[in-house]
Amino acid sequence: MKIAFVQIALAMVVIAISCKQHAIQENTAVAQLSTPLFPKGEKITNSNFTGDVWLNSLVNADSLNSIAVGSVTFAPGARTKWHSHPAGQIILALEGAGYYQEKGTAKRILRKGDIVKCPPNVSHWHGASIDSNFVQVAITGREKGETVWLEAVTDSVYRKP
Ligand code: MN
Repeated sequence: MKIAFVQIALAMVVIAISCKQHAIQENTAVAQLSTPLFPKGEKITNSNFTGDVWLNSLVNADSLNSIAVGSVTFAPGARTKWHSHPAGQIILALEGAGYYQEKGTAKRILRKGDIVKCPPNVSHWHGASIDSNFVQVAITGREKGETVWLEAVTDSVYRKP
């Protein structure tokens, strides 16, 4: 009788410990989800964007490597102006929901894991969706010159489905 009681008590302790362990693992997973891969960086203050946008320059182009890599965080509704890249650009969607549109084509919705290959000299814009932030890594070749900035993306263009 006494041995059975001890066995039951031990079993309860083992169950309690494994539940606690599981909760700790879940909390760690949640913390990893909510922590951005890269810090937001500095708020962009130039006029090439609409709304609140932050840039973390991860890799600057230099004499050894002509490609610039930056993590860009867009608040809901924020976006670039229309622009083009002389050597094209690759966009990796990291978090949230974003938009990408090339001139003359429909707007694309970007979600975590989506990849865009933006051809050289094609006018386009990218940014957050209306009600979600959007984090992207932009990989931009600088060997043929700097980004060419054009007009702002109007609200009606931005909101068009
Ligand atoms: Mn671009």
